[in-house]
Amino acid sequence: MFYQSPGEFTGKNALSLSDFGKMLRFIEVQSIDFHFSRGDFRRWIQLIIGDVDLAIRINRIPQDARGEKLRNDLIRVVNERLSELKKSRHTYTSVHPIPMEGPLPRTVSDGFLAVGDAASQVKPTTGGGVIFGLTCAQIAGEVACKAVDVQNFSETLLSSYQSLWKRMVGFELNTMLRMRKMLDSLSDRRLDNVIGLCSRLGVDNVLEKAGDLDFQGRSLISVAKYPGTAAVISYFIFSWLTSATRQ
Ligand SMILES: Cc1cc2nc3c(=O)[nH]c(=O)nc-3n(C[C@H](O)[C@H](O)[C@H](O)COP(=O)(O)OP(=O)(O)OC[C@H]3O[C@@H](n4cnc5c(N)ncnc54)[C@H](O)[C@@H]3O)c2cc1C
Repeated sequence: MFYQSPGEFTGKNALSLSDFGKMLRFIEVQSIDFHFSRGDFRRWIQLIIGDVDLAIRINRIPQDARGEKLRNDLIRVVNERLSELKKSRHTYTSVHPIPMEGPLPRTVSDGFLAVGDAASQVKPTTGGGVIFGLTCAQIAGEVACKAVDVQNFSETLLSSYQSLWKRMVGFELNTMLRMRKMLDSLSDRRLDNVIGLCSRLGVDNVLEKAGDLDFQGRSLISVAKYPGTAAVISYFIFSWLTSATRQ
């Protein structure tokens, strides 16, 4: 999004590098000056587009450059990069699948501990796995240390990892999986109704204040005492029970 100053949106967006290159030609020069002086172009290209090479080239443009000269420098650097990219070849595909089907039932065997995404210790509602992965990694580390101390790597000894992580996050993962399956069963219209009811009864504010994005199971229990929450939960369960695609 191109701004001329904080809060002064030009109404123009760039959704890709080639969009950006085209936009540079006609966007107001004040907007170019504004974003360049804050390092926005370099950051967007590095973090969102993921082109570190181009970000470095943009960083080489003198920090005090402004006006039409800056516009032309940026156009030149971006166009050079676009023509290089046109000649590039797709050599491999790399994907990061997110396991959303709840934790693996078995995460230990002789000489082996599965942790993080590999153990599907990922929130089934959001796909977030950093907090749970790290929590379980700490437990795995402690159990592995004990195993090294006694030089015993059997499944029997390592199985304390499985019971400890389940105690820590098992309830959360299972509750979130249940919730996601229930949510998946609802049609868009019913989902809209549940969300609408949440906002009419102020439950969205309650969740924001008292809820915890990482521990959604516990949050549900703690917010249940607030007025309005029971009505939303009852309506949600009713919608799920009467849904044609109930899971
Ligand atoms: C686009 C995206 C956005 C996300 N956003 C969030 C978020 O906002 N919040 C959140 O909590 N979670 C988020 N996640 C999920 C989160 O990134 C993962 O749950 C978390 O990184 C899992 O940590 P991990 O250590 O288990 O696995 P990883 O972080 O995947 O680490 C595994 C490592 O093992 C390496 N590896 C794989 N195979 C081999 C091999 N054969 N030999 C050696 N090394 C190997 C990989 O290169 C990688 O470095 C997001 C995931 C994605 C893809």
